[in-house]
Amino acid sequence: MEELKDKLVFPGDKVGTHEEWMPGEETYEENGIIYSKIFGKVEYDEDKLEANVVPFNPVSEVKIGDIIYGTVRERRKSIVTIDLALVEGSNRGIAMDMEGTLHISKISDDYTDQIMDKYLKGDVVRAKVTQVSPSVQLTTVGSNLGVVRGYCFNCRKGMERTGDTLYCSYCDRRETRKISKLYGRITLKSK
Ligand SMILES: [Zn+2]
Repeated sequence: MEELKDKLVFPGDKVGTHEEWMPGEETYEENGIIYSKIFGKVEYDEDKLEANVVPFNPVSEVKIGDIIYGTVRERRKSIVTIDLALVEGSNRGIAMDMEGTLHISKISDDYTDQIMDKYLKGDVVRAKVTQVSPSVQLTTVGSNLGVVRGYCFNCRKGMERTGDTLYCSYCDRRETRKISKLYGRITLKSK
């Protein structure tokens, strides 16, 4: 598991196994596998034998045109709120509690009136910043934007992309999302 040291991870990424490590800071264990709860960097505490994930040092600044990663906090009638976590390319974290708003008209290239089919609480989203003041506004129009990690409504495990839907092999269940073409292909890079 040494190869994961200092790796940048998404929520739900594997950071170790129970045979080698105990779940430490910002992690949880499920069926012997230790996963990250947050966006951050993997660190191992050799003394306590713990696998930990350390959050990025936050910066508060987000600029128009930035590509950000965040997790879906809430869906309302016509908007999705997203907890902002990271600016792509810079490894700049975003201050805790900073949220962005995605309006239903900015979800996809096609007209949609069904937010429920596009995003689910906890999904990891890649989005572009279109406004920063007075509030952060986002868009996921474009094939590379949208959900990059989706978690099963039933069991919360990570889902695989199969064509235009996401599939949970544990539940044999399919779900729809506004899926990014980069789904499952993004590795966060260390500087
Ligand atoms: Zn499932």
